[in-house]
Amino acid sequence: MAAEKACKDCHELILGSHVGMSGKDMFLGSVKEAESYGANALMVYTGAPQNTRRKPIAELNIDAGLAYAKQAGIREVVVHAPYIINLANSVKPETFEPGVEFLAKELVRTAALGSDVLVLHPGSHVGSGAEAGIAKLIDGLDEVLAQDESGVFVALETMAGKGGEIGRDFEEIATIYERVKRPECLRVCFDTCHVNDAGCDLVDDYEGVLARFDELIGLDQIAVIHVNDSMNPRGSHKDRHANIGEGSIGFEPLCRIVHDERFSKVPKILETPWRCEEGSTKKTLPPYKEEIALLRG
Ligand code: FE
Ligand code: FE
Ligand code: ZN
Repeated sequence: MAAEKACKDCHELILGSHVGMSGKDMFLGSVKEAESYGANALMVYTGAPQNTRRKPIAELNIDAGLAYAKQAGIREVVVHAPYIINLANSVKPETFEPGVEFLAKELVRTAALGSDVLVLHPGSHVGSGAEAGIAKLIDGLDEVLAQDESGVFVALETMAGKGGEIGRDFEEIATIYERVKRPECLRVCFDTCHVNDAGCDLVDDYEGVLARFDELIGLDQIAVIHVNDSMNPRGSHKDRHANIGEGSIGFEPLCRIVHDERFSKVPKILETPWRCEEGSTKKTLPPYKEEIALLRG
């Protein structure tokens, strides 16, 4: 948050989770939820992640949320764009055009929420091939960024590579950086589950993975880290998040990235699955309070 930028220089771990935003409280509720987890950062969707219906900014209860955040020590707000936005769809203009329009407005909403980073899935080429998908995505980003005055970064998320996902390796993200007209508006959201599922070895070759990222894109471009374990083995291209320490990455490697000094100013956001109560199959228990405490050590 802009007002809190000065204290980003201290070395306190910036750690939180995805939180909801709904009901009467809206953003105030998001902040209170984050506080209940002992978080000092949070990530929200501005509405349902699977649709683009959004309340007007005036109804998001932002002022009350930001005032509460300040007092509760919540330092960073990250916004995640809905995953139905697919700027890499070169086949259907009826998907691409509303995506461009929505993204432009989402950047304005992100700034209004006191955030300077909007996480975006690069999208899927829906069968037309990565080359065509990337070209279309670049068109879309160019269109949005040409007009944008929000000052918000679009953080392209590293993806697992399931289906036709763009962003399945660092090379694809580097290509987007190289070809987009305003690369200075881009950042990266590094998702540990996705990177693992895409085939990178965070367990035994963490430094090697980061060195490759640094060479292709630059470690300073990482603006958000999604901290998730993975239910599937490295290279599976699946994208199913596991709770911290319960997947194929494991606690140590996740702890290493969370505490890496090079990312001390980068917000780390958990997107791990909710748990079931004893004897129930309904996921009603957020794991974030325990996982934040665990990772803070
Ligand atoms: Fe994501
Ligand atoms: Fe993620
Ligand atoms: Zn994921």
